[in-house]
Amino acid sequence: MIEIKVPLSEGREYPVLVGTNAREKLDSVLPKDSQRVAIITQDNIGVNLNLEIENKIFLIPDGEEAKTLNTIESLCRSFTRWGLTRKDCIVGIGGGVVTDVAGFAAATYHRGTPVIHIPTSLLGQIDASIGGKTGVNLPEGKNLVGAFWQPTAVLCDTSVLSTLPEREMLSGYGEMAKYHFLGSGNLDGLNLEEKIARCVEIKAQVVASDEREIGTRAILNYGHTLGHALETSENYDLRHGEAIAIGLVFAAELAHKLGRIGQDRVEEHRLVVDQYGLSSMMPQGTDPDVIMEVMARDKKAINGLTFVLDGPDGVEVVTGVEPSIVREIIHHMDES
Ligand code: NAD
Repeated sequence: MIEIKVPLSEGREYPVLVGTNAREKLDSVLPKDSQRVAIITQDNIGVNLNLEIENKIFLIPDGEEAKTLNTIESLCRSFTRWGLTRKDCIVGIGGGVVTDVAGFAAATYHRGTPVIHIPTSLLGQIDASIGGKTGVNLPEGKNLVGAFWQPTAVLCDTSVLSTLPEREMLSGYGEMAKYHFLGSGNLDGLNLEEKIARCVEIKAQVVASDEREIGTRAILNYGHTLGHALETSENYDLRHGEAIAIGLVFAAELAHKLGRIGQDRVEEHRLVVDQYGLSSMMPQGTDPDVIMEVMARDKKAINGLTFVLDGPDGVEVVTGVEPSIVREIIHHMDES
C-alpha cells in the first residue's frame, strides 16, 4: 500500500492510500466521532464494503445526467430521514460522477459533513477524487455549481479496476499521459499501483500550491483546451481521456510552432500517447470553425486564445495565441 499525504492550508493534510484492497482501510480513516456512514454509489459499481459501523447505501443514476441539483436534494432529504448528522461521514464509491456528487452533497449537507472518496475508475483515482473540487451540472453547462470541499481521506483501491469497462480504463490513461509532462517523468515500467501513486503525488503537489484554483492549478488543464472543445462539440464519440490525448499532442504541436519546444519533445508526446494505446488523430471530419469557436469561449480564455503549453520553463498558461496558427495546427493534425 502506498500512502501519499495531500497538504492543505493551516497545516492540515489528508491521506490517499493506493493499493490492492485499499477500501478495506475505510474503518481506520473514518472520523472518530462518526456513528454512521452514508454510502453514495451506482448500481453497476458493485463494490462492497464490510463495515462495522452502521451504514446505508444511497444509489444515484449512472452518467453525467446524474450530476444535478435534483440528485443533491434527493440525497440530502434521504440523509435527513435516515438521521445523518454532520459528525457522521459520507462515502462516495464510484467514478468521477459519484465522487463529484458525494463531495458536493457533503459540502452542503448541514453546511459541511466529512466525506471519504473510494474512486473506482482510473480517472477518478488519478484526478477527480483528489483536490477537493466538487459539483454538479446545470442544463446550461458542466460543473457550473459546486464547492471546494476537501475529503477526509481517499482510498484508491486498484482491485476494483478489474471490472472497469476497457474504454473507461483507456479514458483514464489519457489523463495519466498528461502527468508525464507535469513532472512525473516516464511512468513506463512502473506497475499500475506505482503509476497511480505518482499521478496522485503530482496532483497533490499542484493542488497544495493552489487549493482554491487561483493560479498554478491551471497546469492540470494541460491538453484540455482542445480536448474540451472536441468533447463539447459533441460530434465525436470520444471519452474524456481520449479527447485529452489528442489535446496533448495538439498542445505539443502548437508549442513547437511557437518556438517553445523542439521536434523531439513533440515526438515524445506522440510516443507517450501511443504507449497508452490512445490515438492522437483529430476525429474524422473535425470542423476547425466549430473547434475554434468553442475554444474562444473557454473559461480560461481571458486574453484571446489561451492554452496551457510546454516550454523552456515547463508547462504554463500562454495567452493571446494567434488564431491562424491554431487553425493551421488543427488542419495539420487532421491530415497527419
Ligand atoms: P463516470 O463516473 O461516469 O464513470 C464511468 C463509467 O464507469 C460509469 O458508467 C460508472 O458507473 C462506471 N464505473 C466506474 N467504476 C467502475 C468499476 N470499478 N467497475 C465497473 N464500472 C465502473 O466517469 P469518470 O470518467 O470516472 O469521471 C468523469 C467525471 O469526473 C466527470 O463528471 C468530470 O466532470 C468529473 N471530474 C471531476 C474532477 C474534479 O476535480 N472534481 C476532475 C476530473 C473529472
